[in-house]
Amino acid sequence: MLLIIVDQFMRMPGDSKHISLQFQGEPLMYPQIKEAYNYIQKKGAIFNITTNGMLMDKEMTNFLLGLSGLQQVSFSVDGYTAETNEKIRRGVSHQKLLENIHYFLKEASENRPDLYIGVNMVLMEENKHEYKDFINYWTSIKGVHTWVTIVTDEEGIPTKKYWEPPERLICKSPFTFSVVLTNGDVVPCCRDHNYEMVMGNLHTYFLGEIWNGLKYKILRNIQESKIWDEVKPYLCYNCDTWASDYVETLYKLRLFNDNILCAQGSYWEKFERVR
Ligand code: SF4
Repeated sequence: MLLIIVDQFMRMPGDSKHISLQFQGEPLMYPQIKEAYNYIQKKGAIFNITTNGMLMDKEMTNFLLGLSGLQQVSFSVDGYTAETNEKIRRGVSHQKLLENIHYFLKEASENRPDLYIGVNMVLMEENKHEYKDFINYWTSIKGVHTWVTIVTDEEGIPTKKYWEPPERLICKSPFTFSVVLTNGDVVPCCRDHNYEMVMGNLHTYFLGEIWNGLKYKILRNIQESKIWDEVKPYLCYNCDTWASDYVETLYKLRLFNDNILCAQGSYWEKFERVR
């Protein structure tokens, strides 16, 4: 299935092709991950990795840093202390994770200074007491982009707990990327945790047919017409992914510290106080 996805994607129009081999899992657990990245690189796509870092050992680091198609690596670390991170991320060794990240940073600074490296914390009740320590620690390390995002769920619009954006924006997701599941189903965005908005299946249609198909047209029309609240079968009515665009704008205006990007919500006030 992976080769089919890559081949069909590379045949679609557009100059810059970006592939991520993750959705809700850990990409480095895939037994043939090296072959997969080699194939993507051979086809001329660029790619990024979001990982919990536990399998980013020296061998994997050296392999990945040798791939010019790799553009970004993001490490998910949900605590400043081992106690908190290991409580949230079951099975992770915080000490081992720090060793892996620091080795990766050292090798990248020597061999891939162009690589974008991020460390991301998802802010939640269990770790909010140490997010300032997290930011202070990671932003003190050269070459690390630090992200803190607010946990999202299906219960409501979490961003509104912290911030009321001036106006809802059109979501870019249906216009810019797709998620292809291992069974061939195509869903339009990362918010579709339960695969409720299946746009088509690669066992039945080509990726290009799905991308230009009726279901995608309806979804794009919902966005362009701003009728999110009227079309409840789609998840858009209860989603705040679009809010990140406001924060990206603020980031471009450099209201944040250069190294800090809050992807969603209103935590910039707190960041300003931190720095
Ligand atoms: S608004 Fe949310 S649910 Fe709708 S397409 Fe965008 S990310 Fe997906």
